[in-house]
Amino acid sequence: MNILALFSHPDDVEVMCGGTLLKYKKQGHKIFIGLTTSGDQGSNEYDTREEIGAIRENEQLEAAKFYNAEVRFLRFHDQRWFDTEEGRIAVLDTMRWADPDVIFTNWPGDPSVDHRITGQMVSDLMLSLPGKLLPANERPISKAPSLFYADSYEPTYIPEVYVDITEEIDKKIEALKCHVSQINWMRRTESLKDFDIGKMPRTVNAFRGLQVSCDYAEGFRGFRIHGYMPNFRLLP
Ligand SMILES: [Zn+2]
Repeated sequence: MNILALFSHPDDVEVMCGGTLLKYKKQGHKIFIGLTTSGDQGSNEYDTREEIGAIRENEQLEAAKFYNAEVRFLRFHDQRWFDTEEGRIAVLDTMRWADPDVIFTNWPGDPSVDHRITGQMVSDLMLSLPGKLLPANERPISKAPSLFYADSYEPTYIPEVYVDITEEIDKKIEALKCHVSQINWMRRTESLKDFDIGKMPRTVNAFRGLQVSCDYAEGFRGFRIHGYMPNFRLLP
């Protein structure tokens, strides 16, 4: 199968579904990653957006090696990412490029504006996948992929399906540690000087594991619309 992780920022993929992608990779599936922004506002350590954006893209490319993933950067600006015609074409193209059987994206109920817009736009474009008259550069696809929303870590997010990632958790955190610029930036803040980038995902994934009687799990919710109902059996 082709698996597409289409999120908002470098590190979203690792935090939200890294364990699940590692599991898919182990089973021989092909992984694609799309990012709507390169997180080019995600540090005060650099003077230009281009500089930090390029650094974060390289960090994502390093992390992507853990899943042998192909990566596509859409390069919209974070915190300035809106639902526009240009954005919709770029997101639809990315969905078609991966020819996916399964898609993971941000939960549209997420309080982060970037996450919200990416998650909503991916959902809105599901019905546009097969249409040849839709404005897009990539060819229409005839598959009906299952779309899943990754855990947002917010209290209002309740998963409806879980993937056991007990065997993948250490590698998931290793992949997450490729995002060095984020670790460095966080550690500049006095209260975060011992910032451990793996701590939050490890805690959340342990809690999700507790809910389904395993050590570590990632939680997901399915997107439902006629013709594109989520097939939970496609999860690893
Ligand atoms: Zn994010």
